[in-house]
Amino acid sequence: MTPSLANKTALVTGSTSGIGLGIAIELAKQGANIVLNGFGDAASIEAARATVSKHGAKVAYHGADMSKPAEIEQLIAFAVKEFGMVDILVNNAGIQHVSPVESFPVEKWDAIIAINLSSAFHTTRLAMPGMRAKNWGRIINIASAHGLVASKDKSAYVAAKHGLVGFTKSVALETATTGITVNAICPGWVLTPLVQKQIDDRAARESISVEQASKDLLGEKQPSLQFTTPKQLGELAVFLCQEAAANVRGQAWAVDGGWTAQ
Ligand code: NAD
Repeated sequence: MTPSLANKTALVTGSTSGIGLGIAIELAKQGANIVLNGFGDAASIEAARATVSKHGAKVAYHGADMSKPAEIEQLIAFAVKEFGMVDILVNNAGIQHVSPVESFPVEKWDAIIAINLSSAFHTTRLAMPGMRAKNWGRIINIASAHGLVASKDKSAYVAAKHGLVGFTKSVALETATTGITVNAICPGWVLTPLVQKQIDDRAARESISVEQASKDLLGEKQPSLQFTTPKQLGELAVFLCQEAAANVRGQAWAVDGGWTAQ
């Protein structure tokens, strides 16, 4: 059987680690060519490339810094040169910083808005003409439970993720009569390096074990008391790329163990 995403190309930003890598793997399993992006040393980038290409996909890597519009232009041009176009765009690159607003470092605010929000505007505006020409496309924005509700000390992240959900709805309306759909996925806690740092910081701050800090973190927000996995998010991304999801538009789909149901 032909894989469902054969002859499609997926660009996943921030895919050298965590959720982005999990999504790239699931899209690759469906036969999509993959453009990886993100930071890391040469060995970890090669490991990510090898992991994704195991599934038979053609894999290319570009190290654009998603806080820099000129580098994002180079990334899209690279994807087009390698594979012809970007059919599936997954805006996933993101960073976190935790601090009360009055001491929030200005450069961290700017970086979070640039990487977690503005980069999706740049990739979308640059990939859209190719999708419109083909009248097919999937844009999947990895927002967060923090795109729907807030937590203290995360003002930049919450602002960026709420912004990303709003951006998703707006572009979904612009493309509503086309074969291009635009949706957001809103994960709760997923055990990736981004969250491991918050667990480690909490363990150190409260003089408790990392295991206890992990339990407390889940207990505070996520009623299932279980982490969502990158694989589960990847499988949802695959679903959003299928014909069954062709009329799912402008949604912010929570995968948060009940976090935002409370
Ligand atoms: P991660 O730290 O494991 O991965 C982040 C990826 O983004 C890495 O590949 C990193 O190299 C890349 N990246 C960071 N800054 C970049 C930049 N300037 N340019 C290009 N790439 C850059 O984090 P993760 O947990 O996998 O997070 C991925 C996305 O999921 C983020 O947008 C995050 O906000 C979101 N998210 C994560 C969780 C969670 O619990 N982990 C929950 C909700 C949403």
